Amino acid sequence: MSRGNVKSSDSPESRGRAPRVSVDVDRVLISREQIAERIRELGAEIARDLDQLGPGAEIVLVPILTGSIIFVADLIRELPQKMRLDVVTVSSYPGKATSSQGVTLSGMLPEHVAGKHVLIVDDILDSGKTIRMIREELMKRKPLSVRACVLLRKQIDSAMQTSCEYVGFDIPDEFVVGYGLDYDHYYRNLPEVGCLRREAL
Ligand code: 5GP
Ligand code: MG
Repeated sequence: MSRGNVKSSDSPESRGRAPRVSVDVDRVLISREQIAERIRELGAEIARDLDQLGPGAEIVLVPILTGSIIFVADLIRELPQKMRLDVVTVSSYPGKATSSQGVTLSGMLPEHVAGKHVLIVDDILDSGKTIRMIREELMKRKPLSVRACVLLRKQIDSAMQTSCEYVGFDIPDEFVVGYGLDYDHYYRNLPEVGCLRREAL
């Protein structure tokens, strides 16, 4: 078989090793270099805005798990300000779903945000339900401000019309995986953002 055949060159049978996550990727949409560069820019912008809050500002980042795990790890290392991290866990694409099944919150929302400046961090903005729900719930707890930051935003009305202060990339309306985003719990460790081959779904 030819070396160009993904299955033959990368199949575990042929190499006697565990399956590779890249085998099921059809197309890379955003490379790891592009992600790293954009996060540096986004970090600089957010850091400038956080500095405007002044010396007494208390800052809380609220990453939405599990999808934002890699993004937030990279983003916070671009932010020199003193801050707390208070994660929330939300599920809207359970199992093999590739469209939103409604937002389910598991666990608690951060309690101690009163009088603080909050930045919600998520992987991708799609229907907008997740960001809207978390923002509304946090607002009830009387923070001084709530902003949101996503790595990806789909170019669809529901996403574009959802208020979100910081956006990494606008992408086409396709189901993507990698850099924290999963399909049926897999592919989060792919270093780039891409689309899966039809046969993998
Ligand atoms: P929303 O509430 O805006 O519809 O969706 C946000 C959540 O849905 C994201 O945090 C993410 O977990 C999931 N999601 C939306 N679009 C995609 C996608 O293309 N791929 C993956 N893997 N998850 C998605
Ligand atoms: Mg998510």
